[in-house]
Amino acid sequence: MTVADASASQPAALAVDEGRLLHDLEALSSIGRRDEAGIHRLAFSEDDLAGRAWLVDRIEAAGLEARIDGAANLGARWPADDERPPIMTGSHLDTVPGAGWLDGALGVVAGLEVLRVLREHDISLARPVELVAFSDEEGRFGGMLGSQAMSGQLTPEFLERAVDLEGRRLADAMAACGFRALDALRAEREPGSVEAFVELHIEQGPVLESAGRSIGLVDGITGLFRWDARFVGEPNHAGTTPMELRRDAFQALAEASLGIPQVLAEHGSARSRATIGRVQLVPGAANVVPGEALFSLEVRDTDPAVLLALSDAFRRQLAEIARRRRLAFDFETKSELAPVACHDRVQSAIERACRRLEIDPLRMPSGAAHDTQMLARLAPAGMIFVPSRGGRSHSPAEWTSPADLVRGANVLLHTMLELAR
Ligand SMILES: [Zn+2]
Repeated sequence: MTVADASASQPAALAVDEGRLLHDLEALSSIGRRDEAGIHRLAFSEDDLAGRAWLVDRIEAAGLEARIDGAANLGARWPADDERPPIMTGSHLDTVPGAGWLDGALGVVAGLEVLRVLREHDISLARPVELVAFSDEEGRFGGMLGSQAMSGQLTPEFLERAVDLEGRRLADAMAACGFRALDALRAEREPGSVEAFVELHIEQGPVLESAGRSIGLVDGITGLFRWDARFVGEPNHAGTTPMELRRDAFQALAEASLGIPQVLAEHGSARSRATIGRVQLVPGAANVVPGEALFSLEVRDTDPAVLLALSDAFRRQLAEIARRRRLAFDFETKSELAPVACHDRVQSAIERACRRLEIDPLRMPSGAAHDTQMLARLAPAGMIFVPSRGGRSHSPAEWTSPADLVRGANVLLHTMLELAR
Protein backbone atom coordinates (compact mmCIF):
# COMPACT_ATOMS: atom_id res chain seq x y z
CA MET A 1 0.00 0.00 0.00
CA THR A 2 2.97 2.32 0.40
CA VAL A 3 3.08 2.95 -3.35
CA ALA A 4 -0.48 4.27 -3.35
CA ASP A 5 0.30 6.60 -0.48
CA ALA A 6 3.35 7.97 -2.25
CA SER A 7 1.13 9.29 -5.01
CA ALA A 8 -1.55 10.67 -2.72
CA SER A 9 -0.60 14.25 -3.57
CA GLN A 10 -1.79 13.81 -7.19
CA PRO A 11 -5.26 15.25 -7.74
CA ALA A 12 -7.59 12.32 -8.44
CA ALA A 13 -9.88 14.75 -10.26
CA LEU A 14 -7.54 15.09 -13.22
CA ALA A 15 -9.37 13.47 -16.11
CA VAL A 16 -9.50 13.36 -19.88
CA ASP A 17 -12.05 15.48 -21.75
CA GLU A 18 -14.66 12.83 -22.59
CA GLY A 19 -16.33 14.79 -25.35
CA ARG A 20 -13.08 15.58 -27.09
CA LEU A 21 -11.80 11.99 -26.81
CA LEU A 22 -14.98 10.48 -28.25
CA HIS A 23 -15.27 13.16 -30.92
CA ASP A 24 -11.71 12.49 -32.10
CA LEU A 25 -12.29 8.72 -32.21
CA GLU A 26 -15.43 9.33 -34.26
CA ALA A 27 -13.65 11.71 -36.63
CA LEU A 28 -10.76 9.31 -37.18
CA SER A 29 -13.18 6.44 -37.82
CA SER A 30 -14.56 8.24 -40.87
CA ILE A 31 -11.14 8.18 -42.57
CA GLY A 32 -10.83 5.17 -44.88
CA ARG A 33 -14.33 3.95 -44.01
CA ARG A 34 -16.16 2.03 -46.74
CA ASP A 35 -19.66 1.86 -45.27
CA GLU A 36 -20.57 -1.72 -44.27
CA ALA A 37 -17.14 -3.00 -45.36
CA GLY A 38 -15.39 -1.29 -42.47
CA ILE A 39 -12.26 0.82 -42.34
CA HIS A 40 -9.37 0.41 -44.79
CA ARG A 41 -6.33 2.33 -43.65
CA LEU A 42 -3.68 -0.09 -44.87
CA ALA A 43 -0.16 1.06 -44.07
CA PHE A 44 1.19 3.56 -46.62
CA SER A 45 -2.09 3.70 -48.54
CA GLU A 46 -3.84 6.96 -49.37
CA ASP A 47 -6.26 6.43 -46.51
CA ASP A 48 -3.37 5.84 -44.10
CA LEU A 49 -1.85 9.11 -45.28
CA ALA A 50 -5.19 10.84 -44.67
CA GLY A 51 -5.28 9.42 -41.14
CA ARG A 52 -1.75 10.63 -40.53
CA ALA A 53 -2.57 14.10 -41.87
CA TRP A 54 -5.57 14.20 -39.54
CA LEU A 55 -3.32 13.39 -36.56
CA VAL A 56 -0.80 16.07 -37.53
CA ASP A 57 -3.69 18.56 -37.57
CA ARG A 58 -4.92 17.48 -34.16
CA ILE A 59 -1.40 17.61 -32.70
CA GLU A 60 -0.90 21.13 -34.03
CA ALA A 61 -4.36 22.24 -32.93
CA ALA A 62 -3.33 21.17 -29.43
CA GLY A 63 -0.36 23.54 -29.59
CA LEU A 64 2.12 20.68 -29.93
CA GLU A 65 4.67 19.98 -32.62
CA ALA A 66 4.32 16.88 -34.80
CA ARG A 67 7.43 14.68 -35.10
CA ILE A 68 8.06 12.06 -37.76
CA ASP A 69 11.01 9.69 -37.72
CA GLY A 70 12.69 7.70 -40.49
CA ALA A 71 10.27 4.77 -40.07
CA ALA A 72 7.28 7.11 -40.55
CA ASN A 73 6.39 6.93 -36.86
CA LEU A 74 4.38 10.03 -36.11
CA GLY A 75 3.94 11.69 -32.74
CA ALA A 76 4.55 14.55 -30.35
CA ARG A 77 6.32 15.21 -27.10
CA TRP A 78 5.35 17.45 -24.21
CA PRO A 79 7.22 19.37 -23.02
CA ALA A 80 9.30 19.39 -26.23
CA ASP A 81 12.37 18.38 -24.28
CA ASP A 82 14.99 16.11 -25.79
CA GLU A 83 17.26 16.01 -22.75
CA ARG A 84 15.32 13.69 -20.47
CA PRO A 85 14.08 10.24 -21.53
CA PRO A 86 10.31 10.38 -22.04
CA ILE A 87 7.45 8.27 -20.79
CA MET A 88 6.04 7.05 -24.09
CA THR A 89 2.57 5.94 -25.06
CA GLY A 90 1.09 5.08 -28.42
CA SER A 91 -0.38 2.53 -30.76
CA HIS A 92 -1.13 2.61 -34.48
CA LEU A 93 -3.32 4.37 -37.07
CA ASP A 94 -3.02 1.73 -39.80
CA THR A 95 -5.65 -1.02 -39.99
CA VAL A 96 -6.31 -4.39 -41.57
CA PRO A 97 -8.74 -4.31 -44.53
CA GLY A 98 -12.30 -4.13 -43.18
CA ALA A 99 -11.29 -3.02 -39.70
CA GLY A 100 -13.24 -1.55 -36.82
CA TRP A 101 -12.76 1.93 -35.40
CA LEU A 102 -10.79 1.20 -32.21
CA ASP A 103 -7.92 -1.22 -32.88
CA GLY A 104 -4.86 1.04 -32.67
CA ALA A 105 -6.90 4.23 -32.97
CA LEU A 106 -7.86 4.17 -29.28
CA GLY A 107 -4.25 4.11 -28.09
CA VAL A 108 -3.26 6.96 -30.39
CA VAL A 109 -6.24 9.22 -29.68
CA ALA A 110 -6.15 8.54 -25.92
CA GLY A 111 -2.39 9.20 -25.92
CA LEU A 112 -2.94 12.53 -27.65
CA GLU A 113 -5.64 13.35 -25.11
CA VAL A 114 -3.21 12.62 -22.25
CA LEU A 115 -0.69 15.07 -23.72
CA ARG A 116 -3.42 17.69 -24.15
CA VAL A 117 -4.69 17.32 -20.58
CA LEU A 118 -1.21 17.49 -19.05
CA ARG A 119 -0.37 20.55 -21.13
CA GLU A 120 -3.64 22.36 -20.41
CA HIS A 121 -3.34 21.77 -16.67
CA ASP A 122 0.32 22.66 -16.87
CA ILE A 123 1.16 19.62 -14.75
CA SER A 124 4.81 19.66 -13.83
CA LEU A 125 6.49 16.37 -14.63
CA ALA A 126 9.92 14.99 -13.91
CA ARG A 127 9.95 13.54 -17.43
CA PRO A 128 8.38 14.53 -20.74
CA VAL A 129 5.55 12.45 -22.16
CA GLU A 130 5.60 11.31 -25.77
CA LEU A 131 2.94 10.02 -28.12
CA VAL A 132 3.84 7.75 -31.04
CA ALA A 133 1.59 6.38 -33.78
CA PHE A 134 3.69 3.45 -35.03
CA SER A 135 3.72 2.70 -38.74
CA ASP A 136 2.46 -0.59 -40.23
CA GLU A 137 1.58 -2.35 -36.98
CA GLU A 138 -0.85 -4.63 -38.80
CA GLY A 139 1.97 -6.10 -40.82
CA ARG A 140 0.92 -5.29 -44.36
CA PHE A 141 4.59 -5.82 -45.18
CA GLY A 142 5.14 -8.71 -42.81
CA GLY A 143 6.28 -7.14 -39.56
CA MET A 144 5.61 -4.26 -37.22
CA LEU A 145 7.68 -1.73 -39.09
CA GLY A 146 7.52 1.29 -36.79
CA SER A 147 8.02 -0.37 -33.42
CA GLN A 148 10.61 -2.79 -34.81
CA ALA A 149 12.53 0.16 -36.25
CA MET A 150 12.42 2.10 -32.99
CA SER A 151 13.61 -0.90 -30.98
CA GLY A 152 16.41 -1.74 -33.42
CA GLN A 153 14.93 -4.95 -34.81
CA LEU A 154 15.08 -4.21 -38.55
CA THR A 155 17.66 -5.11 -41.15
CA PRO A 156 18.41 -3.43 -44.49
CA GLU A 157 17.60 -6.79 -46.15
CA PHE A 158 14.07 -6.76 -44.71
CA LEU A 159 13.50 -3.18 -45.82
CA GLU A 160 14.62 -3.97 -49.34
CA ARG A 161 12.78 -7.28 -49.73
CA ALA A 162 9.53 -6.85 -47.82
CA VAL A 163 6.43 -7.10 -50.03
CA ASP A 164 2.70 -7.15 -49.31
CA LEU A 165 0.29 -9.92 -50.34
CA GLU A 166 -0.05 -8.38 -53.79
CA GLY A 167 3.71 -8.27 -54.30
CA ARG A 168 4.04 -4.52 -53.84
CA ARG A 169 7.37 -3.62 -52.26
CA LEU A 170 7.53 -1.83 -48.93
CA ALA A 171 10.26 0.41 -50.35
CA ASP A 172 7.99 1.50 -53.23
CA ALA A 173 4.97 2.04 -50.99
CA MET A 174 7.06 4.16 -48.62
CA ALA A 175 8.59 6.10 -51.50
CA ALA A 176 5.10 6.92 -52.82
CA CYS A 177 4.42 8.48 -49.41
CA GLY A 178 7.66 10.44 -49.39
CA PHE A 179 9.73 8.12 -47.19
CA ARG A 180 12.96 6.28 -47.92
CA ALA A 181 12.75 2.71 -46.62
CA LEU A 182 16.38 2.58 -45.49
CA ASP A 183 15.82 5.68 -43.34
CA ALA A 184 13.78 3.39 -41.08
CA LEU A 185 17.09 2.16 -39.66
CA ARG A 186 17.68 5.67 -38.34
CA ALA A 187 14.52 5.53 -36.25
CA GLU A 188 16.28 3.26 -33.76
CA ARG A 189 16.46 4.74 -30.28
CA GLU A 190 19.32 4.14 -27.87
CA PRO A 191 18.75 1.85 -24.90
CA GLY A 192 17.88 4.09 -21.94
CA SER A 193 16.49 6.84 -24.17
CA VAL A 194 12.89 5.88 -23.36
CA GLU A 195 12.04 5.71 -19.67
CA ALA A 196 8.93 3.54 -20.02
CA PHE A 197 6.24 2.64 -22.55
CA VAL A 198 2.55 1.98 -21.96
CA GLU A 199 -0.10 1.20 -24.58
CA LEU A 200 -3.87 1.40 -24.23
CA HIS A 201 -5.64 -1.04 -26.55
CA ILE A 202 -8.95 -2.82 -26.92
CA GLU A 203 -8.77 -6.42 -25.72
CA GLN A 204 -9.86 -7.93 -29.09
CA GLY A 205 -11.12 -10.93 -27.13
CA PRO A 206 -14.09 -11.80 -24.87
CA VAL A 207 -12.38 -12.16 -21.45
CA LEU A 208 -13.07 -8.75 -19.86
CA GLU A 209 -16.66 -8.65 -21.06
CA SER A 210 -17.44 -12.13 -19.84
CA ALA A 211 -15.81 -11.38 -16.46
CA GLY A 212 -17.81 -8.14 -16.22
CA ARG A 213 -14.62 -6.08 -15.77
CA SER A 214 -13.76 -2.76 -17.38
CA ILE A 215 -9.94 -2.68 -17.28
CA GLY A 216 -7.38 -5.35 -18.05
CA LEU A 217 -3.86 -5.11 -16.64
CA VAL A 218 -1.77 -7.04 -19.14
CA ASP A 219 1.03 -9.01 -17.50
CA GLY A 220 2.42 -10.66 -20.60
CA ILE A 221 2.01 -11.01 -24.35
CA THR A 222 1.84 -14.52 -25.69
CA GLY A 223 4.58 -15.96 -27.82
CA LEU A 224 3.90 -18.64 -30.40
CA PHE A 225 5.27 -21.27 -32.70
CA ARG A 226 3.67 -22.12 -36.04
CA TRP A 227 4.33 -25.34 -37.92
CA ASP A 228 3.51 -26.55 -41.39
CA ALA A 229 3.08 -30.27 -40.80
CA ARG A 230 1.92 -33.34 -42.69
CA PHE A 231 0.92 -36.95 -42.36
CA VAL A 232 1.81 -39.10 -45.33
CA GLY A 233 -0.01 -42.37 -45.99
CA GLU A 234 -1.19 -43.91 -49.23
CA PRO A 235 -3.82 -42.68 -51.66
CA ASN A 236 -6.07 -45.56 -52.70
CA HIS A 237 -9.41 -46.38 -54.28
CA ALA A 238 -12.21 -45.47 -51.88
CA GLY A 239 -14.31 -48.41 -53.03
CA THR A 240 -11.83 -51.28 -53.27
CA THR A 241 -9.56 -50.58 -50.26
CA PRO A 242 -10.92 -52.23 -47.07
CA MET A 243 -11.01 -49.96 -44.05
CA GLU A 244 -8.40 -51.95 -42.08
CA LEU A 245 -5.90 -51.84 -44.96
CA ARG A 246 -5.98 -48.08 -45.43
CA ARG A 247 -3.24 -45.65 -44.55
CA ASP A 248 -5.58 -42.69 -44.31
CA ALA A 249 -3.79 -39.42 -43.52
CA PHE A 250 -6.98 -37.57 -42.67
CA GLN A 251 -7.96 -40.07 -39.97
CA ALA A 252 -4.64 -39.33 -38.29
CA LEU A 253 -5.18 -35.58 -38.52
CA ALA A 254 -8.68 -35.90 -37.08
CA GLU A 255 -7.32 -37.90 -34.15
CA ALA A 256 -4.54 -35.34 -33.61
CA SER A 257 -7.05 -32.52 -33.61
CA LEU A 258 -9.30 -34.19 -31.04
CA GLY A 259 -6.22 -34.86 -28.90
CA ILE A 260 -5.32 -31.15 -28.58
CA PRO A 261 -7.23 -30.55 -25.30
CA GLN A 262 -5.42 -33.44 -23.64
CA VAL A 263 -1.98 -32.27 -24.76
CA LEU A 264 -2.75 -28.81 -23.38
CA ALA A 265 -4.13 -30.23 -20.13
CA GLU A 266 -1.00 -32.32 -19.57
CA HIS A 267 1.72 -29.97 -20.79
CA GLY A 268 0.21 -26.48 -21.12
CA SER A 269 -1.12 -23.78 -18.83
CA ALA A 270 -4.54 -22.17 -18.49
CA ARG A 271 -3.22 -19.62 -21.00
CA SER A 272 -2.19 -22.11 -23.67
CA ARG A 273 -3.91 -22.09 -27.05
CA ALA A 274 -3.42 -24.50 -29.93
CA THR A 275 -5.08 -24.21 -33.32
CA ILE A 276 -5.13 -26.23 -36.50
CA GLY A 277 -6.35 -23.47 -38.78
CA ARG A 278 -5.50 -24.71 -42.26
CA VAL A 279 -5.92 -28.17 -43.69
CA GLN A 280 -5.39 -29.62 -47.16
CA LEU A 281 -6.01 -33.20 -48.20
CA VAL A 282 -4.13 -34.72 -51.13
CA PRO A 283 -5.23 -35.70 -53.71
CA GLY A 284 -8.47 -34.22 -52.36
CA ALA A 285 -11.05 -36.24 -54.23
CA ALA A 286 -14.28 -37.71 -52.89
CA ASN A 287 -13.44 -41.19 -54.16
CA VAL A 288 -9.80 -41.40 -53.04
CA VAL A 289 -8.46 -42.28 -49.58
CA PRO A 290 -6.42 -39.19 -48.66
CA GLY A 291 -2.74 -40.06 -48.95
CA GLU A 292 -1.52 -36.81 -47.48
CA ALA A 293 -2.89 -34.38 -44.91
CA LEU A 294 -1.10 -31.03 -44.82
CA PHE A 295 -1.95 -28.78 -41.88
CA SER A 296 -0.84 -25.81 -39.82
CA LEU A 297 -0.42 -26.00 -36.07
CA GLU A 298 -0.14 -22.76 -34.12
CA VAL A 299 0.51 -22.83 -30.36
CA ARG A 300 0.60 -19.84 -27.99
CA ASP A 301 1.48 -19.22 -24.36
CA THR A 302 3.00 -16.44 -22.24
CA ASP A 303 5.66 -18.71 -20.70
CA PRO A 304 8.66 -19.73 -22.84
CA ALA A 305 9.13 -22.95 -20.81
CA VAL A 306 5.51 -23.95 -21.42
CA LEU A 307 5.88 -23.25 -25.15
CA LEU A 308 8.93 -25.49 -25.24
CA ALA A 309 7.12 -28.26 -23.36
CA LEU A 310 4.18 -27.99 -25.75
CA SER A 311 6.41 -28.15 -28.77
CA ASP A 312 7.90 -31.43 -27.46
CA ALA A 313 4.50 -32.80 -26.50
CA PHE A 314 2.92 -32.10 -29.90
CA ARG A 315 5.89 -33.61 -31.69
CA ARG A 316 5.54 -36.80 -29.62
CA GLN A 317 1.75 -36.92 -30.00
CA LEU A 318 1.83 -36.49 -33.77
CA ALA A 319 4.69 -38.96 -34.23
CA GLU A 320 2.89 -41.54 -32.07
CA ILE A 321 -0.32 -41.24 -34.06
CA ALA A 322 1.63 -41.59 -37.30
CA ARG A 323 3.47 -44.68 -36.06
CA ARG A 324 0.31 -46.43 -34.88
CA ARG A 325 -1.44 -45.71 -38.18
CA ARG A 326 1.56 -46.68 -40.35
CA LEU A 327 2.02 -43.16 -41.66
CA ALA A 328 4.95 -40.78 -41.91
CA PHE A 329 4.91 -37.46 -40.07
CA ASP A 330 7.09 -34.40 -40.58
CA PHE A 331 6.89 -30.68 -39.91
CA GLU A 332 8.68 -27.43 -40.54
CA THR A 333 8.71 -24.48 -38.13
CA LYS A 334 7.35 -21.50 -40.07
CA SER A 335 7.58 -18.89 -37.33
CA GLU A 336 8.47 -18.46 -33.70
CA LEU A 337 7.85 -15.44 -31.53
CA ALA A 338 9.06 -15.31 -27.93
CA PRO A 339 6.57 -14.31 -25.23
CA VAL A 340 7.09 -10.90 -23.61
CA ALA A 341 6.53 -10.23 -19.94
CA CYS A 342 5.19 -6.77 -19.12
CA HIS A 343 7.56 -4.86 -16.83
CA ASP A 344 6.82 -4.80 -13.09
CA ARG A 345 7.35 -1.06 -12.94
CA VAL A 346 4.72 -0.38 -15.57
CA GLN A 347 2.35 -2.97 -14.14
CA SER A 348 2.53 -1.39 -10.71
CA ALA A 349 2.02 2.10 -12.18
CA ILE A 350 -1.15 0.84 -13.88
CA GLU A 351 -2.23 -0.76 -10.63
CA ARG A 352 -1.75 2.47 -8.68
CA ALA A 353 -3.63 4.42 -11.36
CA CYS A 354 -6.53 1.98 -11.13
CA ARG A 355 -6.58 2.20 -7.36
CA ARG A 356 -6.70 6.00 -7.56
CA LEU A 357 -9.69 5.72 -9.92
CA GLU A 358 -11.30 2.99 -7.79
CA ILE A 359 -11.09 0.41 -10.53
CA ASP A 360 -10.27 -3.23 -9.87
CA PRO A 361 -8.29 -4.34 -12.94
CA LEU A 362 -8.21 -7.92 -14.21
CA ARG A 363 -4.70 -9.35 -14.62
CA MET A 364 -4.58 -11.04 -17.98
CA PRO A 365 -2.33 -11.96 -20.88
CA SER A 366 -2.59 -10.51 -24.35
CA GLY A 367 -3.23 -13.23 -26.91
CA ALA A 368 -2.56 -10.84 -29.79
CA ALA A 369 0.69 -9.18 -30.81
CA HIS A 370 1.09 -5.43 -30.25
CA ASP A 371 3.73 -2.69 -30.61
CA THR A 372 4.38 -3.18 -26.87
CA GLN A 373 5.98 -6.52 -27.74
CA MET A 374 8.67 -4.69 -29.73
CA LEU A 375 9.02 -1.72 -27.38
CA ALA A 376 9.68 -4.09 -24.48
CA ARG A 377 13.14 -4.62 -26.01
CA LEU A 378 13.82 -0.90 -25.65
CA ALA A 379 12.19 0.12 -22.37
CA PRO A 380 10.10 -1.16 -19.45
CA ALA A 381 6.74 -1.69 -21.16
CA GLY A 382 3.16 -2.59 -20.32
CA MET A 383 -0.43 -2.52 -21.60
CA ILE A 384 -3.92 -1.55 -20.50
CA PHE A 385 -6.95 -3.28 -22.05
CA VAL A 386 -10.59 -2.21 -22.29
CA PRO A 387 -13.37 -4.68 -23.18
CA SER A 388 -14.35 -5.59 -26.74
CA ARG A 389 -18.04 -6.32 -27.15
CA GLY A 390 -18.46 -9.96 -28.06
CA GLY A 391 -14.67 -10.17 -28.34
CA ARG A 392 -15.01 -8.85 -31.91
CA SER A 393 -12.08 -7.16 -33.62
CA HIS A 394 -10.55 -6.82 -37.09
CA SER A 395 -14.20 -6.39 -38.06
CA PRO A 396 -16.65 -3.50 -38.47
CA ALA A 397 -18.50 -5.05 -35.48
CA GLU A 398 -15.70 -3.93 -33.17
CA TRP A 399 -17.20 -1.93 -30.29
CA THR A 400 -16.41 -0.73 -26.78
CA SER A 401 -18.83 1.33 -24.69
CA PRO A 402 -18.01 5.06 -24.44
CA ALA A 403 -17.82 4.68 -20.64
CA ASP A 404 -15.10 2.02 -20.99
CA LEU A 405 -13.22 4.08 -23.60
CA VAL A 406 -13.15 7.06 -21.24
CA ARG A 407 -12.23 4.86 -18.27
CA GLY A 408 -9.35 3.34 -20.24
CA ALA A 409 -8.08 6.80 -21.24
CA ASN A 410 -8.19 7.94 -17.62
CA VAL A 411 -6.25 4.88 -16.48
CA LEU A 412 -3.69 5.71 -19.19
CA LEU A 413 -3.53 9.35 -18.00
CA HIS A 414 -2.90 8.38 -14.39
CA THR A 415 -0.46 5.63 -15.36
CA MET A 416 1.56 8.18 -17.35
CA LEU A 417 1.46 10.52 -14.35
CA GLU A 418 2.70 7.75 -12.08
CA LEU A 419 5.55 6.98 -14.46
CA ALA A 420 6.44 10.61 -15.24
CA ARG A 421 6.49 11.93 -11.74
ZN1 LIG B 1 -3.80 -2.99 -32.68
